Amino acid sequence: RGGTPTRVIPFAQPGSLTRVYGVASGKGGVGKSSVTVNVAVAMAQSGLKVGVLDADIYGHSVPRMFGIDRGPTQVDKMIMPPQAHGVKVISTGMFTRGNAPVTWRGPMLHRALEQFLSDVFWGDLDVLLLDLPPGTGDIAISLAQLVPSSELLVVTTPQVAATEVAERAGTIAAQTRQNVVGVLENMAYLPCPHCDERIDLFGAGGGAAVAERLTTVLGHDVPLLAQIPLDVRLREGGDAGVPLVVSDPDCEASKQLRTVADRL
Ligand code: ADP
Repeated sequence: RGGTPTRVIPFAQPGSLTRVYGVASGKGGVGKSSVTVNVAVAMAQSGLKVGVLDADIYGHSVPRMFGIDRGPTQVDKMIMPPQAHGVKVISTGMFTRGNAPVTWRGPMLHRALEQFLSDVFWGDLDVLLLDLPPGTGDIAISLAQLVPSSELLVVTTPQVAATEVAERAGTIAAQTRQNVVGVLENMAYLPCPHCDERIDLFGAGGGAAVAERLTTVLGHDVPLLAQIPLDVRLREGGDAGVPLVVSDPDCEASKQLRTVADRL
């Protein structure tokens, strides 16, 4: 390592009061980033000091969802994260040029994560949420190594194809001895625009099935924390940089997202 001094990660120090959650999913496109951003903002709305670390290098959609188009600044040797909707945000996307495709490999990612945890001036956070890349990749293991007290949240859709991989993502936690605090079922149903009917666009029951499986595999209770409906405003808000819990705090999707924020 050529004498590189070991970095200090404040969240890994004994006595750290910051709760660290990795948000994981088996595959992409299930709404992991949207959920991370909205839960973070909901927590900030309830008065907590919150940070989001976007470690999903392949997606890095988090800055856009927050409406952040500026990068971090540097003061002394610390990276000062931009802040939006009351949340401090750092993204791998802030360190790549334009939309250049990211070809980082495992070891680089590990070092990037380590640097984001140690060299970013997060201040005194109550909660740090990490948007992890989809899949059962190296980065979840890196997080467990770098912050052993970190816990996981698993996001899935009701679809069988998504639940199978979500389960696998969750069972990594058995190897890393991380707690899975719960499962979020996103895109749980489509409320019919004309009546009270729910349309099970992606099937039904997937979130509960993942929660049940993980409870068995991990040997501790893994609850289904929320069922977030499909809502066109959630997508629009993500594109516009105004999270749904800000633009439409009273809709069902926002209520579900706030439930998660309250239970973490
Ligand atoms: P991931 O991080 O899992 O790849 P994203 O959060 O980027 O997923 O979501 C993928 C797309 O689906 C985005 O365009 C997002 O706005 C949209 N989306 C996510 N959740 C919902 C939802 N509940 N209702 C409508 N659109 C959603």
